[in-house]
This record gives sequence, structure tokens and C-alpha cells, in this order.
Amino acid sequence: MTDKKIIVAVDGYSSCGKSSMARTLAKNIGYIYVDTGAMYRGVTLFALREELITPSGEILEAELESRLSSLSLTFDRQEGYEEPVLHLNGSCVEQDIRTMQVASHVSPIAALPFVREFLTRQQQALGQAKGIVMDGRDIGTAVFPEAEMKVFVTADPRVRAERRLAELRSKGDNSISLEEVLKNLQERDYIDTHRPVAPLRQAEDAVVLDNSHVSIAEQDLMLRFAFEAILAHLRGGQRG
Ligand code: C5P
Repeated sequence: MTDKKIIVAVDGYSSCGKSSMARTLAKNIGYIYVDTGAMYRGVTLFALREELITPSGEILEAELESRLSSLSLTFDRQEGYEEPVLHLNGSCVEQDIRTMQVASHVSPIAALPFVREFLTRQQQALGQAKGIVMDGRDIGTAVFPEAEMKVFVTADPRVRAERRLAELRSKGDNSISLEEVLKNLQERDYIDTHRPVAPLRQAEDAVVLDNSHVSIAEQDLMLRFAFEAILAHLRGGQRG
């Protein structure tokens, strides 16, 4: 056994199953899991609540920037949830950040450089002690370019939309069609891959995992193997 801990960065497109993969891996290896998408959703919810996004979708950027200092985002335990979930200024917002309203505004908010700076700093602090699995869009490229293990997840857009729709339906939301979900995913992917600051892209040293037709058990196994191989390599490196 070694107490050597690493950083695992899991990046990829919206709703390609990366969060559940990252969450399961973290659980299996006893690491902390951080969902950075929740943090971007948290800022978006804050902006909506503070009416810093107009009905036409315009973001009042200067106002948002100056109010960010009053925003605290933390992952805390909450009754009814197995793992810590996002709290905004002390209140649980896990459900509120998963709505289509937040999903439809999050990518323009996440493209703002001052928002990225604000959250990247917090994410780097969360990973300081390593022993972390972090999922997002820019973890292996911008937040932790030195992460020892990087996974880039992709999946067929239709498969992703179907998964997302099933998730919404299971939460009782029957108001949205498959086409609308697909359109939202594609719009988010477009904005996420085209923004000037920390766009979504595969890190050169990332392992690519196409998640369209892989079972959850197979994913878990692959990630576990990759993780063990990296640790074994690091242990070997220490001895030599
Ligand atoms: O992962 P999730 O789909 O919840 O992320 C919501 C949005 O947050 C993404 O579409 C993206 O715009 C933004 N995001 C980001 N960088 C991250 C994580 C999420 O820009 N590291």
C-alpha cells in the first residue's frame, strides 16, 4: 500500500455519463468527488435569482462580477443525499441547479472569464491535497493540467439526449421533448468548445472513452484498471 494520492480529471461533453463514472470511480478508490458543472450551475442560479440575466438572456456582467464576492458555493452533506451536494450561501440547491432553465443559461455564464477565474481558484483549492476525482470541461487542460490521470469522455449526441431525457422524466419533468433536450446539449457543446477561455477540448495526454455503447460495469472496470496502472507506475517510479 502507498499513501500516494493523485488527481483524476474527467472531462467531456454534456450528459455523456461522465459524472456517474467519476462519482463511482471516486467511491471505489476512496477519493473525494467534485462536480464542477454543479459549481457553474450554482453561479447561473445565483445570477437568475438576483435577476442578473434579463428575460432576453442578456447577462448583466459588471453587476454579476461585483456580486460574486457575496456568493459562497460549498459541497455539504444534506439529508436525503448520499454524498455532499451543492449549497449556495448555506442552502441546498441540488434540485434547483438541475432545471432546464439553469441548463439553458449556464454555458454563456461559464464562458465569462471572471466566472471561470472565480471557480477555477476554488477548484484548485479543493484539489490541493490530491486524492480527488474532478469532473468538468477544463479540468485536465486548465484547472489541473498536471493531473496524473486524465479521461476525456464522449458519446453519441442522441444517446446523450436520451439519457438526459430519462433523467428529467425520472424527476417528474414531462414538459420537455427529446428534440429540445438534444438542442440544449448541442448548444452547450458549441458554446463550451468555442469560448476563448478554457474551452472544452481533449487534453493531449487524456485517455478517450466513447461512452455510447459501454455498460456501466465495463466503464467502472476500465477506469479502475487505468487508475491502478498509474498508481503502480508512480510507486515504481518512487522506488527507482
Ligand atoms: O457538467 P454539467 O453539464 O452539469 O455542466 C454544466 C455547464 O457548466 C456546461 O455545459 C459548461 O458550460 C459549464 N462547465 C464548464 N466548465 C466545467 C464544468 C462545467 O464550463 N469545468
